[in-house]
Amino acid sequence: MRIRVGHLYPEYLNIYADRGNIAVFSRRAALRGHELVLTAIGLGDSLDPTAFDLLYVGGGQDREQALIAPDLVTKSEAIRQAGERGVAMLAVCGGYQLLGRGYRARDGSFLPGAALFAHETVAGDTRMIGDVLLECELDPGERHLLAGFENHAGRTLLDAGAEPLGRVVHGFGNDGESGFEGCRLGNAVGTYLHGPLLPRNPWLADWLLSRALAHATSGEPPALAQLPDTLEAEAFSVSAERAKRRGGRR
Ligand code: GLN
Repeated sequence: MRIRVGHLYPEYLNIYADRGNIAVFSRRAALRGHELVLTAIGLGDSLDPTAFDLLYVGGGQDREQALIAPDLVTKSEAIRQAGERGVAMLAVCGGYQLLGRGYRARDGSFLPGAALFAHETVAGDTRMIGDVLLECELDPGERHLLAGFENHAGRTLLDAGAEPLGRVVHGFGNDGESGFEGCRLGNAVGTYLHGPLLPRNPWLADWLLSRALAHATSGEPPALAQLPDTLEAEAFSVSAERAKRRGGRR
């Protein structure tokens, strides 16, 4: 199969190994006999909600977020339609913030977002930085741990009823208080975790790939052949151990 991936604003939102996450999708797809076809979607480009099986938005600082936010708003209807069609999505950090209703920066300015996720973000005066460990259950009964690194000033508050990506075992998560991290809506996942996320959490890469394949085939998410993932497991444990040493939720 061809898996059509749209990478939103790769020239602006790209600071956290975001290209690495795409490389993981590409390699893991190829090892299962699928081809990833990557399209960059930049400022002024139109976004056809039917044209992609997977959308990716990476991380960036406030400055880069401010540069793309007005354009993103023009694409928000298409992003929400893609979400309703079951297009798989991964949004990391700055991109995660802007897929919500918006981000209020320290200087009081408000960047409106795409309003896919039911959340809003307000910058605090300290940064939340360090290794994170989460417990996720995207499909009932299937629990996975997710390890990553967070670095953000924004505090993201989910609306009541919005589903987090996971529960914080170690680290700050969305706001340092709720115990929630990230957001999940159907096949769309947003998270603060990066550094890099997918190389050390191959289960999440495969979950998204399988949803993208479901969209490509208008069928059910297929089971993907297991891969050895020895290095990946090692990378996960190093990261999870560091998060554990950090202790508690802080
Ligand atoms: N505005 C973001 C913050 O909270 C940027 C996050 C990021 O991608 N570094 O700090």
